[in-house]
Amino acid sequence: CADSAMYAAKESGRNNYQFYTQEMNARSQRRYHLEKNLRHALSTGQFVVHYQPKINLQDGKIVGAEGLLRWNHPDLGLVSPEDFIPIAEETGLIVPIGRWVLEQACRQAATWRRDFAPDLRISVNLSPRQFQDDQLVEVIGDLIRETGLPAHALELEITESLLIGDTDKLKPMFDALTALGVVFSLDDFGTGYSSLSYLQRFPISNLKIDRSFINGIPSNRDSVALTQTIIAMANALTLTVTAEGVEDEQQMRFLQEAGCCEMQGNYYSKPVAAEDFARLLAAGR
Ligand code: C2E
Ligand code: MG
Ligand code: MG
Ligand code: MG
Repeated sequence: CADSAMYAAKESGRNNYQFYTQEMNARSQRRYHLEKNLRHALSTGQFVVHYQPKINLQDGKIVGAEGLLRWNHPDLGLVSPEDFIPIAEETGLIVPIGRWVLEQACRQAATWRRDFAPDLRISVNLSPRQFQDDQLVEVIGDLIRETGLPAHALELEITESLLIGDTDKLKPMFDALTALGVVFSLDDFGTGYSSLSYLQRFPISNLKIDRSFINGIPSNRDSVALTQTIIAMANALTLTVTAEGVEDEQQMRFLQEAGCCEMQGNYYSKPVAAEDFARLLAAGR
């Protein structure tokens, strides 16, 4: 009996191993394929930026848009940013891709401000890798001049991971961008590193509460407490606060009562193509 049990374990161990390597091969093949294709995606026009509205929780109006990159792959269809942004970061391709996103978003926002919403703000995600690009400040300065978008209407979304490494080179870039008038927002707030001292050291204006907390409202007591605490802290520090991933009315009401400024999430609208965003703006006018 003992022997046969051991035999079964060995067999299943071997099967697991086979299964594991097959899965690894498939995964590394997909990754290799994506990486190879990513190199040409920009020059062949396979990227598109979608926009998700940010809503003022006091009056329900659209106050901003977050630009979210989409890769329309010829064979694979829409590839999620969660799948290709890490590859773009590792290969450095995020630098030219990120510039392209910035340009699209700034142009688009300048047009929308002219046609529909004079106070609209635009948010763009920046990877830590983009701050290693010596031209970043110049690129953003040029874009602001060329598009006519006021600098204060451009919000750069960064994550806590940027602020924990070697920040010596970072501080002058933040200062230069702040001098231009650009605003910084801390994305996925609460999921990163616990030191809050960077809120003092860096010119952050807005906190975005990570959607994993919002997701737990109202059933998860910890999510409820953490969300309330982040909002209270933001208010005390005179930072604005945006809730990410709001999916239902109950969550929205909770956030309103807790004193949250803005929300973003599928409850109001998923990220949509530029034409559809223009329609949302026109309808809300
Ligand atoms: P993020 O910046 O935190 O963006 C929010 C993500 O949450 C988006 O996913 C959005 O579609 C999703 N989301 C919004 N509302 C809801 C909701 O109600 N429910 C759920 N379940 N999800 C919601 P997406 O577009 O897949 O982007 C994922 C991440 O990829 C972004 O997270 C951001 O970190 C990164 N990313 C996207 N575009 C860019 C870009 O242009 N540059 C860089 N560096 N990163 C980008
Ligand atoms: Mg973001
Ligand atoms: Mg986020
Ligand atoms: Mg994220």
